[in-house]
Amino acid sequence: MIFLSVALVALLWERLEGIPFQLRAIPIGVLVLSVLFAAYAYGRRREVSELKGLLRGLQEHVGAAPSEEQLDQLSQVIMRSQRNFKELIDSLDDPACAVSLDGTLRTVNRRVAELTGLTYSQLVGSKVYDLLEEPAREEVERGLGRFLEKKRWTGTVRIRLKNSSRPLYFDCVLNGIVKGDEVVGASVLGRDVTEQREKELRFTELFETLQEGVYFSTPEGQLLDANPALVSMLGYPEKGELLSLEPAALSFDSGPAVLGRAVDDRGGVRTREIKLRRKDGKPAIFLDSSRAVWDAAGNIIRYQGTLVDITEKRNMERQLAQQEEFRSRLLESFPDLILVVDLEERYTFVSSRAQALLGYGPDEMLGRKISEMADHAPDLVSLYHTLVSGDQAFGAAEYGTRHRDGNGRTMRAAGSQLADAEGKISGVIFSVRDITIERKLEQQVVESERLAAMGAMIGGVAHELNNPLTSILGVSELLQDTETNETSRKQLGMLQQQARRAADIVQNLTYFSRPPAPGKSRINLVEIVERTLNLHAYSLRKNNITVDFLKETGMPYALGDPHQLMQVFLNLIVNAEQAIREARDRGTLRIRLGKGNGTVWVSFHDDGPGIPKENLPSIFDPFFTTKRPGRGTGLGLSICKSVMKEHNGSVEAANAPDGGAVFTVTLPLAGVS
Ligand code: ADP
Repeated sequence: MIFLSVALVALLWERLEGIPFQLRAIPIGVLVLSVLFAAYAYGRRREVSELKGLLRGLQEHVGAAPSEEQLDQLSQVIMRSQRNFKELIDSLDDPACAVSLDGTLRTVNRRVAELTGLTYSQLVGSKVYDLLEEPAREEVERGLGRFLEKKRWTGTVRIRLKNSSRPLYFDCVLNGIVKGDEVVGASVLGRDVTEQREKELRFTELFETLQEGVYFSTPEGQLLDANPALVSMLGYPEKGELLSLEPAALSFDSGPAVLGRAVDDRGGVRTREIKLRRKDGKPAIFLDSSRAVWDAAGNIIRYQGTLVDITEKRNMERQLAQQEEFRSRLLESFPDLILVVDLEERYTFVSSRAQALLGYGPDEMLGRKISEMADHAPDLVSLYHTLVSGDQAFGAAEYGTRHRDGNGRTMRAAGSQLADAEGKISGVIFSVRDITIERKLEQQVVESERLAAMGAMIGGVAHELNNPLTSILGVSELLQDTETNETSRKQLGMLQQQARRAADIVQNLTYFSRPPAPGKSRINLVEIVERTLNLHAYSLRKNNITVDFLKETGMPYALGDPHQLMQVFLNLIVNAEQAIREARDRGTLRIRLGKGNGTVWVSFHDDGPGIPKENLPSIFDPFFTTKRPGRGTGLGLSICKSVMKEHNGSVEAANAPDGGAVFTVTLPLAGVS
């Protein structure tokens, strides 16, 4: 049909050459846009057949001049066709025009008038370059040569009209208007692709400027395109080098390509963390989010995705985790208990030392209020309030608290304010140390210094008493020898006896208070026990304690330090005395000796309450005491134990079947090491 119309119009044009001038003035565009007209003409068969009829008539009378009537008829048909044609090109939504080679507009349609804001009559005959800012005349003329040669040109043209700053884009088809062999103009039909082009431009701009990496790849993971951000993230100087890489060059292991997908992959959105090899060989970690692009037949043609570089983030996370690990290890290995208390008085951090110091696991304390804890210390609470009120930034307190096992503990807490990011007080951090042993040692030092001073004093006094006693003994003996009066002799005998007793006590005192003799010697255990009993005889008598001491005869010598052994025995005797007094106001201390295999032993059996079963494993521990403060330090038995260990002997405790406690001291025989 189209060809038919073109042929028809061309034929018509030949005939029109011969008709009057006004008919030849038919705009050149009629011919140019004949293709469009052909389509239109299909619906106008009546006019065509009319034309055909006229044509036939003309052909029949060829050679003869057409009649006036025929010419009128022809003119009318052509005018009508022209009108219809105009309607046709006006009905197009795309701009269409015909322009002569010098840029004069010959025909325009409604869309051109709308775009330029001018009327038809203003447009037709005007120069196209007067309407356009872009493209410039020189630019058009540069391409003119090739157009004249090919008589056709297609492409996208960026147009900026003089009355507007917004660039418009048209997909144009230019066909040459040929007269004879010569191209005299061009028909232009444009399709407005501005919106599409703007979208593309926006996308390109986004692609080029996005901070995140954007890529297109084959399903096998071969990069097809990458934006500048990705190129630089992977450390390449330019895109070409990156795109020329084999997929394997981007990965660290020999597995499937990092960006690729398996054949059975459905192409849906996939987000995951990946590691790519940079140009410098270092790893870069990305968050990859990609999906497939399908063709019209539903086949996956490529993948498109974004890559967010999270290497720094991951490194920071790793560093943070390391710092966190370091911090928690530091806190956990710290000998002090670390506590953090918020403004609501609640524990927000408790280090694991809590278990050893207080008997509570951190989980049992977290979230609880500082004043709510069992056996909480008011001193710690008041230190907390001083710090959160802002009166003091740092502070310390020493306080007594109770371990979960019931034992009293002395603690020292150093606290300081905690501030949030804005510098406001957000809580308090405490470092708490158990100073129970420290304090007890201090007490012990004071006590032993007191005892040492007393020992020295007793030694001095004993020494001073020795001389008068020696005189009393000597003189009384002399007097007894010369005295004849029986009564007086008896009295002198009594005097002598008491003086000797006093001298014995004094000797024991010097023995006890003398500085420890270095080294061990052969000792008679009976004698050492007796000396100790003598020293403590007054106290035992006063407390109504009867000593049942079976002095074995013929006991072999033991090897030991008499001074240290006296201390051990005195400790055991004092403990027995205290235990009996605790239960009743009189009692018996039974002391027995015996021989073992290469050993000698001595046992102290009291009739006190005995040792509670649960305490038996602890009584030899330093500072273990069930006595009230000031009465016991809990060190007596531990000293006994270390003395006996040093003697290669032992001290053991048990409860006797008939009641009371039995302490047995065992020593090696002299001559047996
Ligand atoms: P202290 O006498 O200062 O408490 P010790 O180490 O001498 O320290 O004794 C530790 C604990 O052993 C005492 O507190 C007491 O509970 C227990 N103990 C020692 N001797 C006896 C005894 N003869 N009978 C009962 N308990 C005893």
